[in-house]
Amino acid sequence: MKENIFSGLEDLGFDNIDEVDIFNKKKEEEKENSQEKKEDDPRNLLYDASATCPVCGNKFQAKAVKSSAYRRQKNDSDLFVRYALINPYFYEVWICNACGYSAMKQDFDKIRDYQIELIQEKIAPKWQGRRYPEVYDVEIAIERYKLALLNSVVMESKTSRKALTCLRIAWMYRLQLDNKNEQLFLKQALEGFNDAYMNEDFPICGMDKYTVMYLIGELNRRTGAIDEANLWFSKLITTPNVPQKIKDLARDQRDVIKEETSKVETSEDSTEETKKSGFFSRFFK
Ligand SMILES: [Zn+2]
Repeated sequence: MKENIFSGLEDLGFDNIDEVDIFNKKKEEEKENSQEKKEDDPRNLLYDASATCPVCGNKFQAKAVKSSAYRRQKNDSDLFVRYALINPYFYEVWICNACGYSAMKQDFDKIRDYQIELIQEKIAPKWQGRRYPEVYDVEIAIERYKLALLNSVVMESKTSRKALTCLRIAWMYRLQLDNKNEQLFLKQALEGFNDAYMNEDFPICGMDKYTVMYLIGELNRRTGAIDEANLWFSKLITTPNVPQKIKDLARDQRDVIKEETSKVETSEDSTEETKKSGFFSRFFK
């Protein structure tokens, strides 16, 4: 067969080979382009996870980020991870569109009977349903986190769960460069983690004691309670058995404070105020 195909075409042989070559290259380029396009389209980074609402039994598909699509880009000092490609935080909250029950996906099934009743009583009758686009953005993420927070409040969830949701909302506002709302939610998160630190068992939200101490220190720093932040960081630096990684983080943030306070003179009044009202000072002095 081969002989038949090529016989009599010797003079055209080179041209043909060139063309074949170009064709192959084109094919490769097309392949690369289509792969780029695939990565550009966030829909290709998502899949539908099957979920069953523990409140009303409704079965639904929740958008979830493929594990292969996670690209860590940068860590902020309060444990916020910035991702390239797609932001997994946008998809962290699952919502049952039938009854309005909403929670972070890791907590979605963690609900007790009395909490189911509270959702049935206080969320479901008011829920009107909400259609979301296939791909979520930061505004949608804020709305979904707030819904989860409202559910947590209604079902009397652990303080730490509410604090973590507030922290997530603060991070979303940070992405929007909305400092006012970021501060509002950082303060709520700080209040919650202070409370959880005293009253809940570790790990809290998957964090060990020293990580929570670091986070509380950093939330104090970010909300302007510098003296309080310094107390938490110093405690971490001087306590034996604290993992080196946490000690290093605490040292870094203490250095940031030093740098900033040498730039800006803080007024005596506000320093006194922080000392008086500080959580750390109340419990550790
Ligand atoms: Zn439901």
